[in-house]
Amino acid sequence: MIKLLPTKHLLLIAAVSALLAVLLIALPDEEISDNNSISFEAKLEVIDQSELILHDLQKLSPATRTVESTPLLASNLSTTYEISVPDALAKKNSPPTFKEQSVEVQPGDSLSRVLSSRGISAQDIYKVSLADKKQKTLLQMKPGQILNFTNNEMSGELTHLTLVLNRLDSVTFEREDDKFNRTDTSRIPDIIQTYKEAEINNSLFVDGLRSGIEQSLLIELANIFGWDIDFALDIRKGDSLSVLYEEKFLDGEKIGYGNIIAAQFINNGRTYQAIRYKTGKGASYYTPDGLAMRKAFIRTPVDFTRISSKFNPNRLHPIFKTSRPHRGVDYAAASGTPVKAAGDGKISFAGKQNGYGNVVIIDHGRGYQTLYAHLKGFARGTKRGARIQQGRIIAYVGQTGWATGPHLHYEFRINGTHKNPVTVRLPNDAPMPKKDLEKYLPYAKQVVATLSNSHSPSFAQKLASLKN
Ligand SMILES: [Zn+2]
Repeated sequence: MIKLLPTKHLLLIAAVSALLAVLLIALPDEEISDNNSISFEAKLEVIDQSELILHDLQKLSPATRTVESTPLLASNLSTTYEISVPDALAKKNSPPTFKEQSVEVQPGDSLSRVLSSRGISAQDIYKVSLADKKQKTLLQMKPGQILNFTNNEMSGELTHLTLVLNRLDSVTFEREDDKFNRTDTSRIPDIIQTYKEAEINNSLFVDGLRSGIEQSLLIELANIFGWDIDFALDIRKGDSLSVLYEEKFLDGEKIGYGNIIAAQFINNGRTYQAIRYKTGKGASYYTPDGLAMRKAFIRTPVDFTRISSKFNPNRLHPIFKTSRPHRGVDYAAASGTPVKAAGDGKISFAGKQNGYGNVVIIDHGRGYQTLYAHLKGFARGTKRGARIQQGRIIAYVGQTGWATGPHLHYEFRINGTHKNPVTVRLPNDAPMPKKDLEKYLPYAKQVVATLSNSHSPSFAQKLASLKN
């Protein structure tokens, strides 16, 4: 019989018997008989992947519900149909589910850093940044801003992203198929006019804050009136101020203030009034008559430590007893302190001049000239013929020429005549154009009336006593 079988079969039989022999030797006696077939079936189950996945999924959700409802079904059949699926489970089972996240941007964060560390794919980060390609808002996100985003929990897909820039502004990216659409949103706060007043007994800041005027508003007030009042030197006990300004509210909550609409300052018996008005050149403050609050010149073109020599056209030389007039003011300051242009103008001279050393002369038009001497050096752009804006740094304090120590010698000339820079009446900035003035005057009248209607009796009394 063995001879009749083909070689192939003989080889197979040999292999099988060899395998059986190995099994018989390796396995303990009692397990041989019934374990052969069982282990074979188990192997088949493991190979089938679809069955494996299904098995795993069943473990995750619906099986749990079946187990939970069984005891109820068994105990009371009549109530079976009224048992509803618990809410939490029902939600879990209704696809798709979304995950919302909210992240505060930290220093050094970038969009991809925030999103990729929270499970958003590089492809989605790329897609959302494509929608922001022009504006680059997401690239410029800043610490403290809030990033809200939602992704599909099943697919991981990013569906929505909002960058909250501040209390009022945000930008949103909404998924539409395979791209994102960008929308900017700005909320407009409610604006309410507020009136406050303060009497100064210590300083503008101490008494201003005490009266409930915020520090940043006080700084603005000091800037508006700073052309007429030196807040370090001129303030007298009993000076008063009143201010009408905008407060911004969002959802009933105060979020800041807007513009100062008008303000009034009583200083040492004189009253100053300023009203904000917008012309073609931008918003600025004007007197009720339409004159600019801003002057054409800043009083002192350098931050000085002291006046080392006053203006004195009749000064006698201390030794020779001859007339040696001092036609400017000497402001002592550390060498290298910046010197600013006192007003808008054109540089008519920048170079060396005998006793003056390095000197700059600016021509301001309308007959006004200023001169800056003993300079250590010139700022870039300080050249003859250059147009200069008020406040621009033109040079640095030094002691070139006839100078015993570092100081700025400053002269103020009107039509060739030297004036005392400390006391000269400074001209107002360019007046409001006639066309604007026609609209401004009735507006100013209305604002002045609003201010005076808001005054407290004591403030009104103070004003009335000044007018008499
Ligand atoms: Zn001098």
